[in-house]
Amino acid sequence: LTSGLEAAWSKLKGEEVLTKENIVEPMRDIRRALLEADVSLPVVRRFVQSVSEQAVGTGLIRGVKPDQQLVKIVNDELIKLMGGEVSELVFAKSSPTVILLAGLQGVGKTTVSAKLALYLKKQGKSCMLIAGDVYRPAAIDQLVILGEQVGVPVYAAGTEIKPAEIARQGLQEAKKQNVDVVIMDTAGRLQIDKAMMDELKDVKRVLNPTEVLLVVDAMTGQEAAALVTTFNVEIGITGAILTKLDGDSRGGAALSVKEVSGKPIKLVGRGERMEDLEPFYPDRMSGRILGMGDVLSFVEKAQEVMRQEDAEELQKKIMSAKFDFNDFLKQTRAVARMGSMSRVIGMIPGMGKVTPAQIREAEKNVQLMESMIEVMTPEEREKPELLAESPERRKRIAKESGKTEQQVSQLVAQIFQMRVRMKNLMGVMEGGSLPTMSN
Ligand code: GDP
Ligand code: MG
Repeated sequence: LTSGLEAAWSKLKGEEVLTKENIVEPMRDIRRALLEADVSLPVVRRFVQSVSEQAVGTGLIRGVKPDQQLVKIVNDELIKLMGGEVSELVFAKSSPTVILLAGLQGVGKTTVSAKLALYLKKQGKSCMLIAGDVYRPAAIDQLVILGEQVGVPVYAAGTEIKPAEIARQGLQEAKKQNVDVVIMDTAGRLQIDKAMMDELKDVKRVLNPTEVLLVVDAMTGQEAAALVTTFNVEIGITGAILTKLDGDSRGGAALSVKEVSGKPIKLVGRGERMEDLEPFYPDRMSGRILGMGDVLSFVEKAQEVMRQEDAEELQKKIMSAKFDFNDFLKQTRAVARMGSMSRVIGMIPGMGKVTPAQIREAEKNVQLMESMIEVMTPEEREKPELLAESPERRKRIAKESGKTEQQVSQLVAQIFQMRVRMKNLMGVMEGGSLPTMSN
């Protein structure tokens, strides 16, 4: 998607304003890029039409180039398409709140059940899980194990009774125990079939859930639109949870959900760990789709948050090339504190799409760098120039950290590259051109 969109922006280089004529080609690229990202055709059509109308209707904003303006319109429209704001979970007025999970097989329902329980537990809510997948005994065991892992009780009644009956018993038990939230995991099929829908309808009737969340694998392609539509029409959903967003997904499913069902994506799963569940932020997703990581919201937030003086100080530091190994270490350690690198890597501009192999590589790199920085003297950390100038120093660091001299040289080269990159980023914050367009 990213490369297709870059082609779109680049066609506007040198133009003064957006016109009906000069947006024809960029819009064709955007259309193609969206289709390649598995966004369904009707959604693409409406999107392209809406963006075109706005692009031509918008007057020239002072200091903003036409390509930037189109990026902004596309970004805003993507955010709107995905529901605009974060959609919070709804809780029942009187406990328990019941959340029913539905979806095809293998999309991550059972994992999400436990993740969601942990997520709500952290908000101070007591939860209970109900094991409703009666077709595979292993599915019940899986939920029981995950429940133990997150410290949430699981109601399981074996595979001999119907899911609707399990739901009834489980709900009764939850009421007895006064839990705040009941989460029911259900069975999925490889494809939508009548038996699955009937079963879900029965369960829904018994539970009268506050939330019916459709779990959708982010890798789902063109079928996402039909899938969401069918579940919504058949059982009525209140929202969706997008899973496996840590994978190499093209994002198409995220764009279709709200548009075809009117129901928002409420949460996203970003990994196999129980902690990897977060609210769905349409603006971040749009940034990911546009291949700019979080750069768009970063630019806005940076401008909002940073007071003028702070900005100037940071700018001075960067402009005078004072970004040193201490800053570097601080940065990588902050990343480590935030959790796995894979979670934050999506926020780095230009790294919207990375494979798990690339992430592992990056994590290894950080460890490698840290081990070399750790044996540097305070002076060396502050003045990378010292290392650039002295092979003896590099040799010593290599020896003490157990790395090769070549690896030390690479690290030194890297900090200088980083200074250049940070300088470019400052350019963006100053209102210069966006990085994806300038490189
Ligand atoms: P279900 O059949 O819908 O209940 O799916 P499961 O919960 O059993 O998940 C199927 C597989 O997907 C398991 O191997 C999970 O570990 C994996 N999985 C679930 N959610 C995520 C996610 O957000 N990221 C990744 N990478 N894997 C996930
Ligand atoms: Mg399951």
